[in-house]
Amino acid sequence: MNIPFLNLKSQYLSIKPEIDMAVKRVIDSQFFVLGEELENFESEFSAYLGSKYTVGVGSGTDGLILALMALGIGKGDEVITQPNSFIATTIAITQVGATPIFVDCDPETYQMDITKVEEKITKRTKAIIPVHLYGAPMEIEELQDIAKKNNLFLIEDACQAHGTTINNRKTGTYGDMGVFSFYPGKNMGGYGDGGCVVTNDIKLKDKLKELRNYGQKKKYYSEGIGINSRLDEIQSAILRVKLKYLEKWNNDRRIIADKYLLGLRNLKTQKIVKGGKSNYYLFVVEIEKRNEMQNFLLNKGIDTLIHYPIPIHLQKVYKNLGYENGDFPNTENIANKILSIPMYPELKNEDQDHIINVINSYYE
Ligand SMILES: *Cc1c(COP(=O)(O)O)cnc(C)c1O
Repeated sequence: MNIPFLNLKSQYLSIKPEIDMAVKRVIDSQFFVLGEELENFESEFSAYLGSKYTVGVGSGTDGLILALMALGIGKGDEVITQPNSFIATTIAITQVGATPIFVDCDPETYQMDITKVEEKITKRTKAIIPVHLYGAPMEIEELQDIAKKNNLFLIEDACQAHGTTINNRKTGTYGDMGVFSFYPGKNMGGYGDGGCVVTNDIKLKDKLKELRNYGQKKKYYSEGIGINSRLDEIQSAILRVKLKYLEKWNNDRRIIADKYLLGLRNLKTQKIVKGGKSNYYLFVVEIEKRNEMQNFLLNKGIDTLIHYPIPIHLQKVYKNLGYENGDFPNTENIANKILSIPMYPELKNEDQDHIINVINSYYE
């Protein structure tokens, strides 16, 4: 018996005719970049989120970089973020030449500890980039107040949070901009790299559209330095199909999560903030002897992963930032204990029963 961490094949098979038709439609049209599929996807995703504009880009990482570029953030500026995330959140900040300033996470929700944000604000601080970690919402309403009060831009890293809500409003729609990733393994993934930036601000939308297309206001006329990062027509067509299923898939994940929560009652799991609804991109448990458990599960044919084993402030690449072990105790503590177990809409009932039984048998 082998239970994979993710099973994209079974999702594809469940919607194969629609996907195949969408891809064929693009190839038949022989129009591949900045066309109708992208425009349609952008308005459909905006309608889904309840945001005015969506700008499709090449990846979630590019989306974060473009969001910072659109705000003119760069050298000499500080951007507040968290050390417990996928490294791309911080890469975007250093890529534009700004300095990341980390805030530790809350030990229960694993989200940015908003009570520690204001003490990190200096004259150089320009923006805050919180992450809705593991698809669960962070306390974005409270953070929005802090950002407003201190005149800071707010960019939501919603790369894991498609369809996540707080008080029924979707994450990604609170900040000046929200950034999503359509990497294949995300809750709504394309068949290659992709991402988008959403905003309610028409000026930011226009700026993002220029920046993703070589800085061109119109073809061959550039007024600022841009990059080449567009969501292509094939990915857009695929995502248009997948968007129709996102709510159903997220609900299927929530049913699986409820069953885990009931079956694994003795394990510590991520606490969801008040009014919040996770899309369960990941289901993360906290275990003292994590490595032992991971091997135990592997021997029983259950694949697991760790999100993420090395906190960003301790990554070799960021040695120059001068952080050391002990700087962010909650993040460091969690990194040694967390384990992500299989979570996807297509996870079979009997497979989930097996996972729950095996984990519980470890403690017997
Ligand atoms: C996936 C992810 C990104 C980067 O998205 P890509 O599309 O892979 O570039 C950024 N931040 C977080 C939190 C992510 O999970």
